[in-house]
Amino acid sequence: MEFMKMDAKALQKYKDELMRQYEDFQSQKLKYDMSRGKPCPEQLDLCADMLNLKEYKTADGIDCRNYGGIDGIPEAKQLFSNLLEADPDEIIIGGNSALNMIYDTIAGAMSFGVSAGEIPWGKLPKVKFLCPSPGYDRHFAICELFGIEMIIVDMNSDGPDMDAVERLVAEDEEVKGMICVPKYSNPSGITFSDEVVDRLARMKTKAKDFRIFWDNAYCVHDLNEQGDKLKNLFKACKETGNEDRVYVYTSTSKITFPGAGVAMMASSKANLIQIKKRISIQTIGPDKLNQLRHVKFLKSMENIKEHMKKHAMIIGPKFTAVLDILDTQLKGKEIAWWNKPNGGYFISLDTLDGCAKKVVAMSAEAGVVMTGAGATFPYGKDPRDRNIRIAPTFPSLEELTKAIKVICICIQIVSIDKLLE
Ligand code: PLP
Repeated sequence: MEFMKMDAKALQKYKDELMRQYEDFQSQKLKYDMSRGKPCPEQLDLCADMLNLKEYKTADGIDCRNYGGIDGIPEAKQLFSNLLEADPDEIIIGGNSALNMIYDTIAGAMSFGVSAGEIPWGKLPKVKFLCPSPGYDRHFAICELFGIEMIIVDMNSDGPDMDAVERLVAEDEEVKGMICVPKYSNPSGITFSDEVVDRLARMKTKAKDFRIFWDNAYCVHDLNEQGDKLKNLFKACKETGNEDRVYVYTSTSKITFPGAGVAMMASSKANLIQIKKRISIQTIGPDKLNQLRHVKFLKSMENIKEHMKKHAMIIGPKFTAVLDILDTQLKGKEIAWWNKPNGGYFISLDTLDGCAKKVVAMSAEAGVVMTGAGATFPYGKDPRDRNIRIAPTFPSLEELTKAIKVICICIQIVSIDKLLE
């Protein structure tokens, strides 16, 4: 029943019962960490054979044990051009982390500018980025570190509010960038529509050196057969004459091993010339052995898709379990709203305004640690204090079931308190 339609006495009675359930969970001394979207051990086991690969020469005889190959080995570029949907000569295969590549691109833009002749962003009085929110906390942390002012843009069900984006980039030269996760977005799970992609590609920007940081971390991470399709922004930008506008990133962190995967990026040839110049000063070359191991293990795009189905078989039931519990415990009460993603790593839940922090704190007191409330917004401040990121992949099904029940109890108690205020 809708909580709003219950009178104070009925709500208080219901709360007393919920408190009993909460105390019961508290006495179980649970210790679950659901703060980050990490693969579970069964997922990591899928790639165990990759560690046995002993080869060290590429098809054209490069010895991967030695220095060199600044932008990646040819077969890695060939294979991963499918993930990035760009030509092999439009990509760089890097180290172990896409986040690291994003950081480096931003650091480069701050120190040297995004292209020859442009003023380094760090020399400008102010640099602003559009941040569709809720979004990825680590993106926001990078912006904050570099003193980039983050402007929240609402995330709609088909991507960022494009009217706001178009207006802001057209009127303000200090808006130099936008950073986002376009497919199975972290945390809202949505995929940008074709129309959003087209508008991003063709919009007029006041800053000539405006760039989109397109973090396609979940490009092949479907949870079901149909999956979502994301239109290729890089191609769309080429078609509108804005080919320098976008940097596309992804990695195998959630295909193989987080922290020991392969990261990559795609961009225009002009952008890549700038970036490669810097990389060749930063390093004598990436971990080519890891790149080769990945190519030998993952083999082809078809095989990657098959491999991702194995991941989905492991984590799909966890997503289903969370959604089922949310439905049973909260549906129709009009105190929480959540998405049903077709892929990615998260379920995003909105509570009544002003409740998220209290829910997260109360869950932690019962041993269920979630991503800090507010973390999904710039500066860690959710203006409505209502968004909670649920990361179902790491805990076992049994742990997850208990954890979500605890969260549902906390949401109900905190909501009742708010309604009784
Ligand atoms: N980008 C997004 C959107 C993520 O959710 C994550 C990890 O959770 C990363 C990047 C990290 O990627 P990597 O391990 O390649 O640095």
